[in-house]
Amino acid sequence: MSSLPLTKIIRWFSITLAIVLLPAFVWAWTGKVVNVADGDTITVLTDTKDQVRIRLYGIDAPESRQPFGSKSTQFVRDLAALQTVKVDVRHTDRYGRTVAVIFLPDGTNLNEEIVRAGLAWVYTQFCKDHSMCAKWDQLQATAKQSRIGLWHDPDPIPPWEWRRGNRGAFQQPDSAVPSWAQFSGNTSSGVFHTRSCEHFRCKNCTEFFRTRVDAINAGFRPCGRCRP
Ligand SMILES: [Zn+2]
Repeated sequence: MSSLPLTKIIRWFSITLAIVLLPAFVWAWTGKVVNVADGDTITVLTDTKDQVRIRLYGIDAPESRQPFGSKSTQFVRDLAALQTVKVDVRHTDRYGRTVAVIFLPDGTNLNEEIVRAGLAWVYTQFCKDHSMCAKWDQLQATAKQSRIGLWHDPDPIPPWEWRRGNRGAFQQPDSAVPSWAQFSGNTSSGVFHTRSCEHFRCKNCTEFFRTRVDAINAGFRPCGRCRP
């Protein structure tokens, strides 16, 4: 070791440290939010005038045609539109989109605020940053308890199920729904829906009733959205 001058050792150490830490720190940049597509997708303009579409990390907002889809979009617009934000890049998804945590100019974590407001689900399957995701789970539980945002509905359909449903995988087929049925009961949540409710054909909606009294007598409680 005596043959190695101290400066050389320090330089070697610094370079090694930089290489090790590089992936963790370099992937944050700042830019201006020029579009909000929905509650979990925004476009940020870089310093070099490139528009980068960002999927917000760890959350899944209701689709635009789902209840609270437009509320979620508007919430993000109100907070972030035209703001200069920090884009903390986590990874690139299979569609080539940048997946990131967004920080507003005052340091507020945008992803977190959307969950707090009850306007997106924690996307458990893809939320792997434990320190962040555990906190978001708690915020979501609180939102659920207080029935704020989309949690106003006791039985909201998560967007990942909704997307599957729109591909025809989970809605009850015509053959499963008796023609006389005016109400359906979700055997998992104990909630019942009217025929016009978007939840009427939900996966666990396998009991059917002619009248709301029949549904209530069978132990079901009214859906908060269609209010049967
Ligand atoms: Zn309903």
